Amino acid sequence: MARYLDPKCKLCRREGMQLFLKGERCFSGKCAMEKRPYGPGEHGRRRQSKPSEYKLQLREKQKVRSIYGVLERQFRKTFAEATRRKGETGGNLFQILEHRLDNLVYRMGLAPSRNAARQLVNHNHVLVDGKRVNVASAQVKVGQTISIRQKSRNMPVINDSIKAAQRRTPLPFVELDAANYSGRLIREATKGDLPIPVQDNLIIELYSKV
Ligand code: SF4
Repeated sequence: MARYLDPKCKLCRREGMQLFLKGERCFSGKCAMEKRPYGPGEHGRRRQSKPSEYKLQLREKQKVRSIYGVLERQFRKTFAEATRRKGETGGNLFQILEHRLDNLVYRMGLAPSRNAARQLVNHNHVLVDGKRVNVASAQVKVGQTISIRQKSRNMPVINDSIKAAQRRTPLPFVELDAANYSGRLIREATKGDLPIPVQDNLIIELYSKV
């Protein structure tokens, strides 16, 4: 499966904000946005000219793709699915992205980052309602329980992540049952639940042109 392999911190620096792509490191003084809060590359420190409308739209789309670790082709498919569904496209888009299995494993605190969550899913460590699911993009339904397979519960990455998650305020649409290495999607995620503000109208405008 294709995935983005370049340094994650560059993505945050390019967008000029913390996207929280590297787990606990993002909450520490080691965060690259603290040390180098300017764009990556040779011209990163140059004063930026006023961005065009297209650039704003493109950056917003890239930001969302970076947050969820989704490549362009898959993101387009997700967008197409969001337009097919009833209701507001922007809301649908974020609901599909938030209900991805890898995202929820991360949101519940069973993994320190989406990347780590994706690896746990791909390597068969994760169960949905007791059944093994190894597709990171699988959609989780409200009420379903995600858990860590019994054999995998001694993995340090999972235990450290659960401890860290217990120190943070959980998102309102998920709950974590730390003792049972599991979590549940308690209601549908909405745009308003997202910790990082996103302007879905810019993404819709961008894709409506092509
Ligand atoms: Fe982004 Fe995390 Fe890197 Fe900070 S440490 S720049 S939040 S990925």
